[in-house]
Amino acid sequence: MSQVIAPTEITDKTLLTYSALNTYRNCPRKYKNRYVDNLRPRERAEALSFGSVIHTAIELWYRSVGAESRLSDVNAYIDDAFENRIVDASQMASWHLARAIIAGYASRYSVEEFEVVEVEKEFVGEIRNPDTGRQSQTFRIAGKVDAIVRCHDGMYLLEHKTAATVDANYLDKLWTDTQIALYCHYLRELGYPIVGVIYNVLLKARLKQSAGETQVEYEARHAELAAKNKSGKSTAKRQMPETDIEFQSRLNEWYSRPEAFHREFIYLSEDRLAMLQEEVWEITQQYLDARRRGKWLLNTSNCFSYQRPCEYLAYCQSGFNPNVADNLYQIAMPHEELGGTPEVSVSSDRDADSWL
Ligand code: SF4
Repeated sequence: MSQVIAPTEITDKTLLTYSALNTYRNCPRKYKNRYVDNLRPRERAEALSFGSVIHTAIELWYRSVGAESRLSDVNAYIDDAFENRIVDASQMASWHLARAIIAGYASRYSVEEFEVVEVEKEFVGEIRNPDTGRQSQTFRIAGKVDAIVRCHDGMYLLEHKTAATVDANYLDKLWTDTQIALYCHYLRELGYPIVGVIYNVLLKARLKQSAGETQVEYEARHAELAAKNKSGKSTAKRQMPETDIEFQSRLNEWYSRPEAFHREFIYLSEDRLAMLQEEVWEITQQYLDARRRGKWLLNTSNCFSYQRPCEYLAYCQSGFNPNVADNLYQIAMPHEELGGTPEVSVSSDRDADSWL
């Protein structure tokens, strides 16, 4: 078993996350924007905020197994996360959805098929040359997994996801999740005998709270129906706004359906884990080469992946105009997702020949 260094022991190597490696693989220029120049968009997408609230809510849920106040504590967190909901319709919609997801989840999984071993487990491990087995003198890899659980047939990573639908395409994509497979490798090195991953998928209902009809809309509809009626009368009644209680009840009904939550078990092969080690090594080699030569290629085929523009599109389009950078981005520490590893050096800068 290879040595894995605890976060507090790290002093001199550059820390890479899977997110950083993957960003470099997808677009070297994007890597430079995010991890070298430390630019982050000033405005974060609402979908991201909602996803992170649900993620934290589920984390709290598993941190307080056995506590009587478990559900009320999670609900209190959701209330805080959307504290402006009374004056912000978008927050109110997210709050309704988050509350209903957690209520449905608590009911569906009141008794679990596994025992929780770790929650939000962080790790740091060595990147190795696959040919020689020797560790990099420049980099370490770091990551965090949602949870580690023990089932009847072994230990699994538990990975939470929110999704609009779970269809064959979605399930196929889970098999391409190299991040989680790589994390399994490093957690095995830490002594957790991980045999696979349980994807814990929470569906996002598309229901909307009905706003009802305004008086004008009602009168127009009433007149239209009356015109179609030989008697010239209409029995149409004004459609009133759906109350919060009515909407929450409709959402709760939706989340009581079996398909509102899905768990997919995926097993990991040794071959796949070995292949990932090689990929990581190759990406870091390419990265070191780009850094030494100061060449950060723009992969323009990646500018609109996931059917939305890259967060750096305006910056790249401007030819890296510093005014655009100032207006649209703020400086943020890289790897901010690893909140528990502040001691880690992320700025050491060595040449490729420091690889052994
Ligand atoms: S806009 Fe395109 S070229 Fe620029 S960083 Fe994003 S993906 Fe790369």
